[in-house]
Amino acid sequence: MEAFVFLSAKFEIVQVIDQLNNTKKTLFSFEILPPLKGKSIESIYEGIDPLMEFNPAFINVTYHREEFIYKKRTQGFLEKIAIKKRPGTVGICAAIKHKYNVEAIPHLICGGFTKEETENALIDLHFLGIDNVLALRGDPIKTERHFVAEDGGNTYAKDLVEQIVDLNQGKYIDEEIENATPTNFSIGVAGYPEKHFESPNLLSDVKRLKEKIDAGAHYVVTQLFFDNERFFNFVKLCRVEGIEVPIIPGIKPISSLRHISFLPKFFNIDLPAALTDQLDQCKTNEDVRKVGTAWAIQQSKELVEFGSPCIHYYTMGRSKTVRTIANEVFG
Ligand code: FAD
Repeated sequence: MEAFVFLSAKFEIVQVIDQLNNTKKTLFSFEILPPLKGKSIESIYEGIDPLMEFNPAFINVTYHREEFIYKKRTQGFLEKIAIKKRPGTVGICAAIKHKYNVEAIPHLICGGFTKEETENALIDLHFLGIDNVLALRGDPIKTERHFVAEDGGNTYAKDLVEQIVDLNQGKYIDEEIENATPTNFSIGVAGYPEKHFESPNLLSDVKRLKEKIDAGAHYVVTQLFFDNERFFNFVKLCRVEGIEVPIIPGIKPISSLRHISFLPKFFNIDLPAALTDQLDQCKTNEDVRKVGTAWAIQQSKELVEFGSPCIHYYTMGRSKTVRTIANEVFG
């Protein structure tokens, strides 16, 4: 069994985990997406309200990069326009903290940001009292074959971690700033129990993860997975490679017929045969939801048994299913 990981250093989320884990209870947390542009923040609250009774340790809010579309203009010209379909990550985090008094964690990515812009975003967060971030590289945009960093931007999540650590030490890009106020960010990073899709193998990916921790990240949140054995092996490998920080498993209940092909393709993960055997019998979304919910409950119970400090649920706008699972596991 994975021992609950305790750290004495003063790091916000790790501290939350520490304090709450004194009871040796696995914590509950979840991720939400900003609403599509034009929708109100009420849609966010409607997703959060049903989950509040399970006392979430923190709520993550994803970040969505701009997408490029072509608009027809006069004389047949096409104009390339950048649009953000889901803006509002920082505002939502501030609103969540204000309304629910729960730690809200914005995802911060390298893609699309120069270091200067990243620094300004971090300053905004610091002024808002948001002291936790999940530092990510981001995926290539649809028109790119490979991830391309902005000129003067961070290339890997590790570089972003280094920039945040610098700011925590009062080192701003402009070295001439005198008596600079240090920030106090607690930094999470992504881990992949089935390896990141660009990585040559799992060990190589774990070594890259170790570099992010060595750069100053405080904990790991994993990509979603459906096979607990893959997660247990990943944790074991991380520990062997010297990664000692908390590793928080990410769980997504499969809940529609579309998910059966979409999730493996989009997240580069496998669905275990024992699960697909059951999904093959499903005729409707409701059938899938039942199988997916039961699977996620079983996964969660095993992860609690394993000693996971927290289980992080990907709601993807569907808090009803996560509520059913939380009721069984944390109720
Ligand atoms: P990195 O840690 O930088 O790793 C990327 C790849 O580069 C890996 O294959 C790694 O092994 C390799 N690598 C690392 N360092 C080096 C090096 N020095 N040389 C060569 N190779 C190297 N994306 C979003 O756009 N918005 C979100 O809100 C978001 N939330 C996420 C939340 C979680 C929990 C997870 C797991 C992913 C999330 N993502 C999000 C997706 C993420 O941005 C992508 O998976 C991205 O492709 C990799 O991000 P990373 O931070 O893991 O990158």
